[in-house]
This record gives sequence, structure tokens and C-alpha cells, in this order.
Amino acid sequence: MPIQPRDSVKALPGVGPARARALERLGIRTVEDLLTFFPRGYEDRTRVSTIAQAPEHVPVCIRATVADRPSATRVRKGLNTTKVQVVDDSSCMTITFFNQDYVKDALRPGTEYIFYGKVEGRGLRRRMTNPAFEREGAQRFTGCIFPVYSLTAGISNHLLAALAKRVSADCAGALPEVMPQELRLAYHLAQSEFSYRSIHFPASWEELDMARRRLMFEELLCLSLGLALLRHRRTAEEGPEIPPADLTPFYDLCPFPLTGAQKRVIGEARADLALRRPMNRLVQGDVGSGKTVVAAACAYLAAKGGFQAAMMAPTELLARQHYRSLSGLLAPAGLMVGLLTGSMTSAEKRKRYAELAEGQIDLLVGTHALLSEGVSFYNLGLVITDEQHRFGVSQRAALTEKGGRGQHPHVLVMSATPIPRTLALIIYGDLDISVIDEAPPGRRAVRTYIVGESKRARMYDFVRKLAAEGRQTYIVCPAVEEGESGAEGGPTLKSVMTYAETLRTQVFSNLRVGFVHGKLKAKEKDAVMDAFAAGGLDILVSTTVIEVGMDVPNAALMVVENAERFGLSQLHQLRGRVGRGAHQSYCTLVTSARNPESMARLRVLASTNDGFKISEEDLKLRGPGDFFGARQHGLPHLKIADLAGDMRLFRQAQDAARELLARDPELSEPGHLALLDKVRRLFAEHPHRFN
Ligand code: ADP
Ligand code: MG
Repeated sequence: MPIQPRDSVKALPGVGPARARALERLGIRTVEDLLTFFPRGYEDRTRVSTIAQAPEHVPVCIRATVADRPSATRVRKGLNTTKVQVVDDSSCMTITFFNQDYVKDALRPGTEYIFYGKVEGRGLRRRMTNPAFEREGAQRFTGCIFPVYSLTAGISNHLLAALAKRVSADCAGALPEVMPQELRLAYHLAQSEFSYRSIHFPASWEELDMARRRLMFEELLCLSLGLALLRHRRTAEEGPEIPPADLTPFYDLCPFPLTGAQKRVIGEARADLALRRPMNRLVQGDVGSGKTVVAAACAYLAAKGGFQAAMMAPTELLARQHYRSLSGLLAPAGLMVGLLTGSMTSAEKRKRYAELAEGQIDLLVGTHALLSEGVSFYNLGLVITDEQHRFGVSQRAALTEKGGRGQHPHVLVMSATPIPRTLALIIYGDLDISVIDEAPPGRRAVRTYIVGESKRARMYDFVRKLAAEGRQTYIVCPAVEEGESGAEGGPTLKSVMTYAETLRTQVFSNLRVGFVHGKLKAKEKDAVMDAFAAGGLDILVSTTVIEVGMDVPNAALMVVENAERFGLSQLHQLRGRVGRGAHQSYCTLVTSARNPESMARLRVLASTNDGFKISEEDLKLRGPGDFFGARQHGLPHLKIADLAGDMRLFRQAQDAARELLARDPELSEPGHLALLDKVRRLFAEHPHRFN
């Protein structure tokens, strides 16, 4: 029986239980997994030379005859070398292998082999170290473009290449051609069998390009189709129709006139709410762009339409902060806003549950406590989540289920992580997107400075000067306890605890210094942050727990220690904690890193306050993998396509997906079933989203 794509790798010669387990660490269980385990790079093994003419330092293939028996030497424990002399018509050379004892028997005197490696030395001292080799005439691993794979312990590149050679020859043709013929023709895509073979062992660089383009397109098409199907499915769901009430009374009661961007985004959400299908909208706005009032306007519309709204925040502190600002905005309009958090007494909670079930509460603000069993709404029509990357998709889903009556409430997601728009469309695939791209008037840009250790004393003076003016300062450090260091060899990290202690007792002994970190109990943490918010502390030393959402307009300085340790977007978030009031604010990035890359990164931050620009830079510098935390965002894992690099191809794939779905909205035609199966499998890691 020939080997089939769905067979276990154990069906392959040379793969026993131990290797199968090692392969599994690479995500390879079946023959098909092996076929779709694409090389991460290639070696050009096509260059052929003679010993005499081989250039130095450039790997080449050399056909040569083994001149004598290889001689093995034990240099010391753990280090054996095997040396052998080889000759060709032009010259001779010495080949040395380290710790490859099998070579002694594998290389036979008088036999011709192809050796692939770098030739060093001149004249009669030509030599090669650890070359790959095979018998002349085998032509399997030399004279070709050779794949380089990601590896794991117990799996060598040679083994993977040998397996890939075998399965791509035997099974590439057994995979179904998922790409409909008309798409293949329209987008000039290579065939499936050719592509799965050539991606591992291309006959030329042109072939490799063709194979890669086809496979990337296939993957991006599946991604686009999956997202489009999700979106399509949503349109079939029933949501509450919330009539587009007049917002003038709400605007009139607002303490400030709304910006054009805020009104536009509210308008977009208002139109969604009026439809029968549930809204699924992401509001993206830089820190301080004023997202809260958008949430308030939507809750106002829901209440006017006779529906309740719920807002979920990631921490108690944020929940209480939202509760305060939303009550401030909505109570004057006659809405009742309630708060529910885990730290409330059970009597308080019961009271809240009752008010909720009876429909007295128009907007319930809270933490995960909103998901608890006792929570049952009278008529939930709108769910708002803040900083959604802290919530799993499933939690969002759990809250929407509280809608009851088989209805799906509208969902509004607010995020302060600015993402280049094109990428946002992908990451948040099934959401519509609104962007608040205008800051409230009168904001002064935060002035950002990068300082080295030598300016530390001056930085402390500046903190004192601001404190004397009544302004407050955040000081953020990357680690919690001494010794919890990051990358090896880097600068030592400031410990929040010892550092805060030093600041309090020695540096700022006549100022009020508090400190918080993630390991404190929620209550203790909140107490300190509340004290800071109320002006009871001059300085708040902390880890990044304050990153999200803290709104203390009187804070005017953000100091970040070991700034090189943070991602750009994260630093931008931190900086967003200041500059919320009328006075000039500052951000000081303290770093002792000297390498140009770190400095270049930090300078991006110093040069602009525009979160979108910063995120684009961040994306360029870090690459999409890190940037997305793709899994966290619920996006399928891509094997070959690179979303940031292949935007053009992605757009083509999106067009193709649209054309295809226009003709066959459910991909139910027989010719599309293989493709649908592939889409399902791409999204299989996210069963709650797609099945
Ligand atoms: P975000 O949640 O987007 O970071 P917030 O909604 O917390 O921003 O708003 C930041 C600050 O700006 C708040 O103090 C808010 O009252 C204020 N603000 C929001 N919109 C406006 C506006 N149009 N004019 C003036 N101030 C505003
Ligand atoms: Mg906010």
C-alpha cells in the first residue's frame, strides 16, 4: 500500500516511536503534516566546483574520490574527529568530521562522492569541515536547492529533508487540489502537486517562487474565506433592533463638546444598533482619544430603546473608574448605572442582581464578576468590553449569552492598541472597525526624553520640581523581585520593591511614595492606585500593572526604567497615562542600553505621539508574529504566509474569496468541498469560532 497523506509518520521507514514523539514536538503527526511543514530557508547546493578552483568561504559541491581509509581520533572526552583525504583531477584536500563516527564506515576508499561544504586553505592545504555528502550518482541531497527546516532535539535537518524528499515524491499528488481551476487560472497559481513537491525540493529558484506563491495564496485564501464565513454567519443571527434615538439630549448633557471623530464613530455604532443583526464593532482609539463617551452614547441608545447594557473591564480598578466616568455621563440623562465586582459583599451583590433582573439598572459595569451565575439581565441588548486583548473570545461569548431569549446582544469592543488598519481587518477578522483618529482639543503632546544613567540625578530633581508644583509622577520598572531578570547578560533590572524602598527612604524622603505590582492582592493594589488617583501620593512606583486605562489627569510625568525592555506599543501605552490634563506632561525613558537598535526603537517614541505610526514601526521592528501574539487574538496560525510581508497577495486572496463566495456563499458546491475542509482545518484550533 502506498503511503497516504493521513497516515501516521510512523508508517515511514526510519520513524520509530522515539522519532515520532520528537516529530510531534514540531507539530508533525501525519504524512500530510510533514508535507505542510515548510522549510524556513534553503541552501544553494547547485554550485559545483573542483578542489583547486573552489572559492574560499562559499559552500560548493565537489566531486572527489576517497583516497585512503578515514582515520578516527579521540581528542578528548566528547570530542572525536575523523579525517579523510579526497582527490579529484585538479587537487586534493583533507576533510575533517567532528563527532560523526559513522563516517569512518560510510566513506569507502576508491569510491566517488559529492561533498557539499566550504573549502578553506590554499594550494595543497585545501580542507573542508563537516560537509554533507552522498555517493556520486545519488543526487538526493547535493547538486540541488536544499531545504532547511526548524528542528527539535532528536531530529536533524538531514532526517527531515530525507522524510520530506520521500513524502513529497510519493504523496504530494495524493493531496486534493483545493484551488478551483478558475482561480488558479485567474491568479496564475501553480498546481497543488507541483507546489507541495517544489516547496521542499525545487528544481530552480523560479520553481520555488511559483510554489511558494501558490501555497501562500492558498493559505491566505483559506484565512479570508474563514473570516468571511464567520461574518456571513453572523448576519444570520438575530439581534435586538434598537431604534436610532436622537442623541442631542445626551450631547447637551456632556461636559465637553464631542470631537468629530467621536461623533462619527457613535454614528457608525448607532446605525449598527438599528439593524436586526447583532453589531460586532471594534472601536480603536489611541490612549486618551475619548472612547468612554462612545460607550456611554451606545448605552444611552440602548436604554432609550428599552434595553440594558453591560460593560466588562479587565480589572477592578478599571471597572470602578469606568463606573465613575459613565455614571458622570449618563446619570444626568436619567440612566441608572450599577457596579458589580468580585470584591463586593454578597449582600451587595444580591442587591445588584435583583436590580438587574428587575430592569432597574440600565448599564452594569463590572469585572469578570459579570459572568457569574447569579447575573441575569432583564433585557440585555448591548455588551461593551474594554481592552479586549485581555479577554478571551470565549469570555466575550459567555457574556453575550446572558442576552437570553435566544437573542444575540450587540457587541462593542474598545481597544487602545492602535493597529495599522489593514492588519486590524485581519486580526479582528469578524469585527467591523471604527477608528477615533482625532484627539480631544487642547491636548498638548507629551514631551519624551531618552536619558542614560548619568542623568539620573537630574531626572530625580525634575520629579521633585513637579511635585512642588502639585503634579504627580509614575515610575515604571520591568520586574517585580530582585533577580527576576530578563535576557542574560543584560543590565540588572530594577526591583520594584527595593527600588521603591530606596526612593521612599533616600531619594524622595519628603515626598509620598507608593508602590504596586502584580503580586499584590487586588484590594491592596486598588487601595494604592486609588490613593494615587485621589492625589494622596506624589509618586507611584509600579510594574506595568498600570499600563491599561489609569486615568489620573494630574499625573504629569512617566518615568520608565530599563525602557529598552519594553515593546514600543507598550511604552506608548505607558506614556498615555500622562498628558490627560491641561498642563504639559513628560515621559522619560531611562536606559543604559547602548546598542543602536534599542536606541533607534526608543527614538521612534521620542519622535512622535501618534500611536498608529508607532505601531507600524513596532510591526516593522518586531515582525508580525510577536506583534500579533496571533494566538491570543484568536487568529489561526499561518504556516507559510506572512501577513505583514504579503499584503498585496493577501488583498488578491481577499478578492478571490469574495468572488468565490458571491457564487457559492456556503462553499457547498462539490468542487469547493476540499477547500471548505481546508478552511475548517485552518480554524480548527478555534472551535468556538468556527465549526
Ligand atoms: P480613552 O478611554 O480613549 O483612553 P477616555 O475616554 O478615558 O479616553 O478620555 C480621556 C480623557 O479625555 C477623559 O478625561 C475624558 O473626559 C476626556 N475627553 C474625552 N473626550 C473629550 C472631548 N471631546 N473633549 C474634551 N475632553 C474629552
Ligand atoms: Mg479607556
